[in-house]
Amino acid sequence: MTDVRVRIAPSPTGDPHVGTAYIALFNIAFARKHGGRFILRIEDTDQVRSTRESEEAIFEALRWLGLTWDEGPDIGGPYGPYRQSERREIYAEHAKQLVASGEAYPCFCSSETLSAMREEQMRNKLPLGYDGRCRKLTAEEARNRIAAGESHVIRLRVPAEGETIVRDRLRGDVSFQNSQVDDQVLIKADGSPTYHLANVVDDHLMQISHVIRGEEWISSTPKHVQLYRAFGWQAPEFIHLPLLRNPDKSKLSKRKNPVSINYYRRLGVLPEALVNFLGMMGYSMPDEREKFSVDELIAEFEIDRVKLSGPVFGLDKLKWLTGLYLREMSEEALLDRILGELYTRESLARFVKLLQPRIEVLGDFHQQSGFFYGPDGLGYAPEELLPKKRSAAEMLPVFRKLSEQFDALRSFTVESVDEAIKVVMEETGYKARDVFLPLRIAVTGSKASPELHETIVAIGPELCRQRIRLALEKLSSLQS
Ligand code: GLU
Repeated sequence: MTDVRVRIAPSPTGDPHVGTAYIALFNIAFARKHGGRFILRIEDTDQVRSTRESEEAIFEALRWLGLTWDEGPDIGGPYGPYRQSERREIYAEHAKQLVASGEAYPCFCSSETLSAMREEQMRNKLPLGYDGRCRKLTAEEARNRIAAGESHVIRLRVPAEGETIVRDRLRGDVSFQNSQVDDQVLIKADGSPTYHLANVVDDHLMQISHVIRGEEWISSTPKHVQLYRAFGWQAPEFIHLPLLRNPDKSKLSKRKNPVSINYYRRLGVLPEALVNFLGMMGYSMPDEREKFSVDELIAEFEIDRVKLSGPVFGLDKLKWLTGLYLREMSEEALLDRILGELYTRESLARFVKLLQPRIEVLGDFHQQSGFFYGPDGLGYAPEELLPKKRSAAEMLPVFRKLSEQFDALRSFTVESVDEAIKVVMEETGYKARDVFLPLRIAVTGSKASPELHETIVAIGPELCRQRIRLALEKLSSLQS
């Protein structure tokens, strides 16, 4: 086998996702098993949504799980830079090459033209996609229009006929009709690269031998295969891992379940248990044992043993597994974990200020701080979520909006939380008295808690979001 070089390529656009850790783990197991290297590349081509905080949070979460990399933006390596925003000229240069060889072409269609094209295609029940009208421009005409400053993108010239075969190690050959593969955009009108171009150019230049990523990228892969062909490059081997699913088998998404690694950390799941659990996603050890370390996984790892049937990422099983680790520890080790992960100085400091005015003896602190730690359910009765004269049907839209707003918050401060609550009040037409109390119950489980906004900030986004989701479930249960 050629030198094994694998990578994950997360986009830093939100909280660190458990899916990223899952893909990282399988890449690491594969790399270590074959004496290869594991690379972390940051795909921040979406300049509007990408942030450095999110990037840092991804690094921090992966390090907490012990999933470390051999090359990456923070530690460098021979194929850097490893952050796509620092590689813009490389992509522009490569797109130019493709235009020169006739494999790509400038397209001047405006967004109005494109939406009219789409409407027309829908009306006539034709396949959706770019119809290739700028393909026919002569090189001279295109040059003149560019020289005249006309806005344009660069598109790949995908053969109109025939098929593109994606070789997937777990699925065999998957074929796509070229008539269904769009002339994808490689360079956008502002000169920045698209995911497809940057991803393929980087995988090639970084000498990635195997692309091990989530199944959701399969539909992009024919485009990538076409790009490799256009460049005259050999494509890496593709291995698409099955998507993580909710217990009801739907795709794991933050609307139904927490997907942030930080949520599980905040809940007190042990990192070794979470990694172990991720190792059970679509995979099982030859002797079917469920508790194993990363080193044990690597020692026996065979990527071909991955099963494609949707692996379920369920909290109950994860808690059960964490419990096994907790019970096996010495008391001393458990005490260290409680002090190191749960009652840390940092976590206590988050609410000392809030409780100081409310306690008479230190013991009160214990009772009043319970909701900062969990458990998730908080044990209040669903009816407590209803303000006077309000029904569950009336409160459901409020909590749906709260959930939406809290999920979308990028920073969690008194001001941003206040803004989110105001939006909910404006959009639902409910007053503070109808929103504050139910929200307080949802996040703290009781009417008597410190100032709401500060309390929410101290509890933190991970637990608050999940508690709002659970409140929604409780409200729904009142209806049925
Ligand atoms: N940037 C993509 C992501 O966010 C990378 C997909 C791939 O691995 O090619 O997951």
